[in-house]
Amino acid sequence: MFKNKYVFYALILCIVFINNSLNAQSNTSKKPKNIVFLIGDGMATTQIYAALTVKKDKLNIAKFRCIGFHKSYSASDYITDSAAGGTAFSTGTKTKNGCLAVDSNLKVLPTILEMAEKKGLSTGMVTACAVTHATPASFIAHIGNRGNYEEIAPWYLKTDIDVFIGGGLKYFNARKDSVNLIDSLIKKQYQVITSVNQLNNVKSGKLAGLLYADHPPKMSDGRGDMLAKSSSKAISLLEKNRNGFFMMIEGSQIDWSGHDNNPDYLIKEMLDFDSVVGIALDYAEKNGETLIVVTGDHETGGLSIIGGNWNEGKIDAKYSTTDHSAVMVPVFAYGPGAEEFMGFMENTDIFLKFKKLMIDKK
Ligand code: MG
Ligand code: ZN
Repeated sequence: MFKNKYVFYALILCIVFINNSLNAQSNTSKKPKNIVFLIGDGMATTQIYAALTVKKDKLNIAKFRCIGFHKSYSASDYITDSAAGGTAFSTGTKTKNGCLAVDSNLKVLPTILEMAEKKGLSTGMVTACAVTHATPASFIAHIGNRGNYEEIAPWYLKTDIDVFIGGGLKYFNARKDSVNLIDSLIKKQYQVITSVNQLNNVKSGKLAGLLYADHPPKMSDGRGDMLAKSSSKAISLLEKNRNGFFMMIEGSQIDWSGHDNNPDYLIKEMLDFDSVVGIALDYAEKNGETLIVVTGDHETGGLSIIGGNWNEGKIDAKYSTTDHSAVMVPVFAYGPGAEEFMGFMENTDIFLKFKKLMIDKK
């Protein structure tokens, strides 16, 4: 086949060289510079399948190829709440239901957000609830009682989080102790905005977006593209840091639709969340150094789909509880390090993988 053995040897050398350089490329690209972590509160497979049916197979979440499942149980309960679920993601420790970034003995646990700050990365959170609610609070506050919003708000001043956007203004400026935390935020160089329209005015720097007195409204009550706009703005502010960034985005009210056993509420919240997944994926595709991970903290409502129609985009939903359920929760990943999230895992493994990929790498 080969005219002489030297041509053959040269070819082998070439193949070895190309192979090694490809390996080198994939090894270096396995560590992300940025992580965007999207949590659909109360979202498991049936919530996704319901939205997939209504959208007639066109869902951004359906684009992922690296897929796994996590076990969501907490230290105290077979069925977790969002505080213990969020703490598992933020700290890698299973704790008692109700606890925020503390273990079952109330020992403070450092969060991935705090670790990223220490490494010189920018950090952010965007949610469709008050920023003091359990899921975002589990990344920033260290207390045993998720219900005390006025005690949670001051934790935003104890960290160096660069961008946080959601509701909950009244826990900062209309408090029982009369302390005005907005003044303190401004002193810490935050631009404080209180409406979605003001997002356009912010071009750089630190941002506290407290866009509603309490929780943002449901999609059906006019929330519009608040979550999408806020997420895009947050990414554009955070990406200015050459060291990279970590951010968490929460589709908070998927959970509340489950507690309400309301499939219309569910679909609207799922489609809103999915649009934000699309924004994150588009960014990661262009950027090339960003890991996107999408999951839920637990399932809510014990939703089953007992009938449906692809052509009409309709589902027949039946709920088995107004609380959370124990079913395993899917994990979707894209970008450098995405393969780490394939297979079966504990909810706490998600933190450990983030830490390995983003904190321990340098
Ligand atoms: Mg939540
Ligand atoms: Zn819930």
